[in-house]
Amino acid sequence: MKCRHCQTELIHTFIDLGYAPPSNAYLTVEQLKQPEVYFPLKVKVCEQCWLVQTEDYAQADDLFNADYAYFSSTSSSWLTHAKCYSESIIERLELGSKSYVIEVASNDGYLLKNFVAAGIPCLGIEPTTGTAAAAEQLGIPVLREFFGETLAKQIAETKQQADLIIGNNVFAHVPDINDFTRGLRAALKPEGTVTLEFPHLMQLIQQVQFDTIYHEHFSYLSLFTVNKIFAAAGLRIWDVETLPTHGGSLRIYGCHAQDSRKNSESVNNMLSLELQNELQTLVTYQQFQQRADKAKNDLLAFLLEQKHLGKSVVAYGAAAKGNTLLNYAGVKPDLLPVICDAALSKQGKFMPGSHIPILAPEILHQRSPDYVLILPWNIKTEVKNQLAWLTQTTFVTAIPNLEILT
Ligand SMILES: [Zn+2]
Repeated sequence: MKCRHCQTELIHTFIDLGYAPPSNAYLTVEQLKQPEVYFPLKVKVCEQCWLVQTEDYAQADDLFNADYAYFSSTSSSWLTHAKCYSESIIERLELGSKSYVIEVASNDGYLLKNFVAAGIPCLGIEPTTGTAAAAEQLGIPVLREFFGETLAKQIAETKQQADLIIGNNVFAHVPDINDFTRGLRAALKPEGTVTLEFPHLMQLIQQVQFDTIYHEHFSYLSLFTVNKIFAAAGLRIWDVETLPTHGGSLRIYGCHAQDSRKNSESVNNMLSLELQNELQTLVTYQQFQQRADKAKNDLLAFLLEQKHLGKSVVAYGAAAKGNTLLNYAGVKPDLLPVICDAALSKQGKFMPGSHIPILAPEILHQRSPDYVLILPWNIKTEVKNQLAWLTQTTFVTAIPNLEILT
């Protein structure tokens, strides 16, 4: 396999997580009687451009099917994050009724609704039917397509180029990252701005966030690599911010390469920080598997110990990252009988691979478990506060290492 950005032959493995079903393929009772498809889940690193990337296995269309269950609006902290971003970018770029905003992967309209409310014309791009329909109900026009250069050129011709293109947690999810980036350029006005948010590879490595690796997530990105990808497409990164979301993300600000805006100091500062943290050193990547295996083994040891002691453990949050962790660790309902989740679309279904049932959080009233394992550790404080009424329960997270929350 060759690097998806620079075409260098990929020799080095970052991590091999064995085989797993697509992490968002939640199963119905009927589907439990059918065979389940597993794909290899192996991640490589390119020695040339340092793009960390999943090995090729299947078409994106197989993974993002109509049943894709994630609605962004179910997380209140994410809604707040989206609102704050909208307010600040509207002010910073002086957007108004004559501006045009495009969001790629607009999901259920969790973000663009803020632009609608401000009277700023916008367009969502979202291939997933259920979430696209939810956004349309909020008055957001949505194109049900995958974004790339071809679609971007159509938009530029039939609609207009954008003053602002937003991509939150989509850049890492696209198989052809070069085509996507050329699309950003094609759909952007000469003076326009692109903002992208993606989990920062530096945090993934430091915090052993191997559970954020799944098939839908093709790339794991540093500023160094994104800078190269942007440059190759005729774009430039002129500012970068760090965000606490998803365990540590970057928000980059891009423009056309020839734009008159000067780069902020934060761009060079972050590039230096990545270099200091040895993100362009092979051994950093070669040590990762060992660190991930330790976290996995510690979780298994904890679950086995509670089983021996007769203690009850329930998980909270049927997130994609939970699927990676549970499938890699081989955890099944005997060790973890239930996962609670507030999303109605997941309740009554089963986790892919592990087949652990997903139930409404209300069942915690009857169960009052000894331990709640919070799978989406990135929102552990939010979850712990929501469940504060479970006074006899101890909360636990498994990443970066097994931790009892106090
Ligand atoms: Zn490369």
